[in-house]
Amino acid sequence: MNKPVLGIPQNTIEILQKYDFSFQKKFGQNFLIDTHVLDKIIRAADIDKEDMVLEIGPGIGTMTQYLAEAAGKVVAVEIDKNLIPILSDTLSSYENVRIINEDILKLDIRGLALKENAGRPVKVVANLPYYITTPIIMGLFEEHVPVESITVMVQKEVAQRMQTGPGSKDYGALSLAVQYYASPYIVANVPPNCFMPRPKVGSAVIRLTCHAQPPVAVEDERLMFDIIRASFNQRRKTLANGLGNSDRLTFPKEVILEAIETLGKGVSVRGESLTLEEFARLSNYLSAASSK
Ligand code: SAM
Repeated sequence: MNKPVLGIPQNTIEILQKYDFSFQKKFGQNFLIDTHVLDKIIRAADIDKEDMVLEIGPGIGTMTQYLAEAAGKVVAVEIDKNLIPILSDTLSSYENVRIINEDILKLDIRGLALKENAGRPVKVVANLPYYITTPIIMGLFEEHVPVESITVMVQKEVAQRMQTGPGSKDYGALSLAVQYYASPYIVANVPPNCFMPRPKVGSAVIRLTCHAQPPVAVEDERLMFDIIRASFNQRRKTLANGLGNSDRLTFPKEVILEAIETLGKGVSVRGESLTLEEFARLSNYLSAASSK
């Protein structure tokens, strides 16, 4: 058995110096240097030797070493070509790791997951590059990548937005999208001093346990998400105005009002007070109205 060594700051510094590595701000590079946080992520991800883990952005391989110990197989996708020789070095003693030098946003992740794990769902674990957190998570959901759970480090505020419900200022399109596809749970808050270099923002580890079936029945998912986006685009307007002003929705005003009335919350209700179940009802009503 190998022992992960990179979570210790001195070992990380040594590797960075050995390869004369310069951090690239544009890639959101903040490497983890805290073994307690790494242990917490691995525990929350609940990985065993039957699992294939997809890691996004392995950096110098710190978390990859922990993942390789726990999982049957790890596929790690890293955009920065300067990190590839470092990863070959730090992961040389692990035979169950495959590194792919690609941009995760351009990769066919569904195809990769299906091929690498014979169609079985994978577990995604990552200390995400914060500049692309939302497109990465939404990409996994919308492209129907077979995923069992997603355990990731994200900006603290983003974790709160994913977990919250109606009535909070953080509630929005991201909360609804995440909760349609998964159950979110914030595992831990992580301060900037657990990273090298230190990020300017606080971080949190969140686990999203993917639903086998969405918690609400929706006739037309695309329409529901268009409605959700339109409702939160103009947060201070009423739901009726938000939907009426959207370029993507072309329902007559009276149909929109009729649909809103079915919710029983009055026609001047705001989108931010609707639950996922109410958005589903609204969307199903409008979907039926458009096919009449
Ligand atoms: N996992 C490492 C750790 O915890 O120390 C590094 C995490 S760092 C926050 C984010 C990593 O994602 C960096 O290694 C960065 O180069 C990589 N990255 C940034 N954009 C990416 C993209 N579009 N596709 C794949 N990797 C990316």
